[in-house]
Amino acid sequence: MNSSAVLSSLARRLEGKVAIVTGGASGIGESTARLFARHGAKVIIADIQDEMGQEVCREIVGDGGVASYVHCDVSSEADVSRPLDVMFNNAGTVGEYRSHLGFDRSDFEKVFAVNVIGVFLGIKHAGRAMASTGRGSIINTASIASVMGAMATIPYTASKHAVVGLTRDAAVELGHYGVRVNCVSPHFLAAMEEVTEKCSVLRAAALKAQDIAEAVLYLASDESRYVNGHNLVVDGGYTTTNPSLG
Ligand code: NAD
Repeated sequence: MNSSAVLSSLARRLEGKVAIVTGGASGIGESTARLFARHGAKVIIADIQDEMGQEVCREIVGDGGVASYVHCDVSSEADVSRPLDVMFNNAGTVGEYRSHLGFDRSDFEKVFAVNVIGVFLGIKHAGRAMASTGRGSIINTASIASVMGAMATIPYTASKHAVVGLTRDAAVELGHYGVRVNCVSPHFLAAMEEVTEKCSVLRAAALKAQDIAEAVLYLASDESRYVNGHNLVVDGGYTTTNPSLG
């Protein structure tokens, strides 16, 4: 491939591919859906916030991209199944901030239904569709709460550790079918001011949704074809910093 062909293939890294983005109506998912579309993907936004999701699709189409919206609750198996190349299992919820000693089981289960069962269902149905074609990339959104404790709510931390476990397990199995499964672990977005304002280190490492979208684009595209079962931590080095030095 000559240098101009390399540049043009990098410029449109998802040309002609079909990509589902769960939780694409706002935040990281929205930013990723827009970036995927700019790179030539046909994007399907799957969310429960119908008006917001449809508006994002209209804007993508207005910018010359291809996007459609489906109402999809990721914790409902009946809602989850499509043919595709890229699946971004990104929808997530945080839950209430409370002590281990007073956390209700039902509130715990609500977070797991979205963050863990939702990712499991996304892997299962995307994996089936992709295994039948022998190609595909599944990316799951974890969090730096997948590698640390006490960063968020109790079920959130447990659920994001579980996302990494699901990712690794699926990567081993689906890799035999040519399907890669990876996850991204973002630091807190700058928008989460109630968290970042308490800590200068957190403020320094705070990200924008676009920073996560770029990492997801890498995992979605063929540039990462030898990356499988990886947890790509996007945190400006926060989780590798020695607190007494950093
Ligand atoms: P967000 O609230 O802006 O977006 C989450 C989206 O998920 C929303 O559009 C929401 O409607 C959708 N959603 C929630 N439950 C759903 C369900 N059952 N079915 C379908 N869609 C559903 O938040 P965000 O920050 O963009 O979060 C995206 C992902 O990133 C989540 O998995 C979150 O845990 C993770 N994350 C966020 C941060 C952060 O600082 N914001 C940090 C690390 C990880």
